[in-house]
Amino acid sequence: MLPVCGRVVFSSSEDLTRATRAKVVEGENGFVSWVKAAAESLLATLFPSDCRLCGSPLARISRLPVCEDCLFRVRPLQGGGTCAICGERLTGSVNVMDQGEPGCALCRQVEPSFAKAAAYGSYEGGLRDLIHLLKYEHVRPAAGVLGRMLAEVVEKLAAAFAKGDPVLVPIPLHASKQRQRGFSQSELIARAALKLKPVGREWLLRPEILERCRPTASQIGLTPHQQRENVRGAFAVRRAAEVENREVLLVDDVLTTGTTASECARVLRRAGATRVWVATVARTMKAEATCALIKQDSDEMEERMAKAANG
Ligand SMILES: [Zn+2]
Ligand SMILES: [Zn+2]
Repeated sequence: MLPVCGRVVFSSSEDLTRATRAKVVEGENGFVSWVKAAAESLLATLFPSDCRLCGSPLARISRLPVCEDCLFRVRPLQGGGTCAICGERLTGSVNVMDQGEPGCALCRQVEPSFAKAAAYGSYEGGLRDLIHLLKYEHVRPAAGVLGRMLAEVVEKLAAAFAKGDPVLVPIPLHASKQRQRGFSQSELIARAALKLKPVGREWLLRPEILERCRPTASQIGLTPHQQRENVRGAFAVRRAAEVENREVLLVDDVLTTGTTASECARVLRRAGATRVWVATVARTMKAEATCALIKQDSDEMEERMAKAANG
């Protein structure tokens, strides 16, 4: 007899747990759900795989080897207490900029070339691990979940866009770095976000507009002035006509200091863009400076591994 609801009897308590965690939907499409869950459980039993973030066994077969608990723990940033321009966490007494909005010391000192930068979450814990999974372990399906987060950020920024949606431009890697990694993470994430574009929105993805024409050193450990010098002249706009009199939305995986995004915004505005916005999946907060150092370590590790592989 075929089961009429989602509950399935398995031969062991472990399998029952797997079935429960697979969230079999009762009632509607019960049989289809049951077959799917049974197949997934069977495959998971035959080809066990563990969550790449926490190591616990995965309840279901998925292209993304991350458990639901780890994904659930990635939470968005809570509003308030951040710089109105770059999103940096404000500590101590809050200073107000000309427009009457709270601003961090850096933005008050040298106003960035972008209008506003927004991020989904803080660059720490599970979110940092997911980004590392994509960038350093090359688990491309991670771009899907990161793209969903990016789509949420873009939608939140959208209220401030001028009439007509902006051109989406991923912050590019230098060609040598992209060859080494095999892909541009900002472009992969942007493409995944594009699939979730709300009806009526015109998100035009144009990765070819911006080029990183020389490799840049890590921004970590540099003074704000040194950071600006480090990226000055590193980007070029290749198709100025496509940004002329239009707003541009820069997208990336992580905003670390904001200096790179500001330099990209500067050249885009010089090429005729009216305003530049920045949307990233994560943002390094002051308290997470150590995480940024870990990122630097990973960058260096990736370079060393590539050098070793190339002899
Ligand atoms: Zn997990
Ligand atoms: Zn700021």
